[in-house]
Amino acid sequence: MKAFNMFFHPFAATCSLFLILSSCVESTEISIDKEEGAQITSSAETPTNIIFLIGDGMGTSQVSAAYFYGEEDAQPNFSRFPILGLINTTSGSDRITDSGAGATAFSIGQKSYNGAIGVDMQGEAVQTVNELLEDQGWQSGVISTSGITHATPASFYAHVAKRSQQYDIATSLVHSNISFFAGGGQKWFMNRPDSLNYLDSLTHYGFSVGTESLGSADHSKRVGYLLANDGLLAKHEGRDDFLPNATAEALEYFAQSDKPFFLMVEGSQIDWGGHENNGDYVIQEVLDFDKAIGVALDYAEKHGNTLVVVTADHETGGFSLSGDGKSMSGYGEISPTFSTGGHTATLIPVFAYGPGANYFGGVYENTAIFSKFFEALGQ
Ligand code: MG
Ligand code: ZN
Repeated sequence: MKAFNMFFHPFAATCSLFLILSSCVESTEISIDKEEGAQITSSAETPTNIIFLIGDGMGTSQVSAAYFYGEEDAQPNFSRFPILGLINTTSGSDRITDSGAGATAFSIGQKSYNGAIGVDMQGEAVQTVNELLEDQGWQSGVISTSGITHATPASFYAHVAKRSQQYDIATSLVHSNISFFAGGGQKWFMNRPDSLNYLDSLTHYGFSVGTESLGSADHSKRVGYLLANDGLLAKHEGRDDFLPNATAEALEYFAQSDKPFFLMVEGSQIDWGGHENNGDYVIQEVLDFDKAIGVALDYAEKHGNTLVVVTADHETGGFSLSGDGKSMSGYGEISPTFSTGGHTATLIPVFAYGPGANYFGGVYENTAIFSKFFEALGQ
């Protein structure tokens, strides 16, 4: 009986048909492009939804930390991705990018100058990936452990010349089509130089706003959480499971509707731990980000229609998992070390899962993430 079922399983049937007609070769054409690297240019399936997770400041050593400092018997969620890529994160103005240009490369598909938020090299606004999808009826959301007006999340809904314009970025969020956001940053909405109370403005534009805890907003409206004055607490200083829980709440929120969704989730403070050269800070933030990845992958596995892409805007700290730092024999222990208090130019890993994931294999520019989203969608 088991063998009978397998023979008539739709996938088995499709593949044997392919074997007869074309030996399954049609689905894997590879081409090499300067910007996009070697890529598989056709794929059998297109995703309905996209979850894009950005670990700010997360290079391969930060990812590796999850393998040495995570739970003893559990593999990190990074191990669940079948497709891997590498990106060059150099910005339009500098060899080493900042988080504004880094996230803007993903959101608009163009290299811009350090500090840019959703604008090109000339400072002109360019529609972001989620704004283009919103025009097609998609829902979109942003989640961050920094203030929600900080450079990374801002690059998906705001278009301003400088990342420091956080009051203007708050104005952009109020007027955006984002339907779910969660992070910190109350001060940019409530203690403004123009004396306006932007919590009222958010309510006016249809948001139910929670300022105390996740789960408190009305899911029949647009949902916004501002849960700290600016950045949320660091994980090693007592932040709860905000990032995985906000991701789960966003997915529950979007699943109420038949509309597709684009959700950006940022583990912001991997970067902050790197700037502080604080190994424990970095490691706790990476483990927390890995939990959020697990929530996204569980959803994608269950529903089968969701592309999950994980990457970073750049590496921070020149973080490494070295031995005792002195000799070639001190290999029994790992001690996290840093080479800088700033960002670095090292290539950054990309992890992809789900329909369209094949497009994300290879070595390419950070701007190609944007075009690969649309290629994965068949657009
Ligand atoms: Mg950031
Ligand atoms: Zn940074």
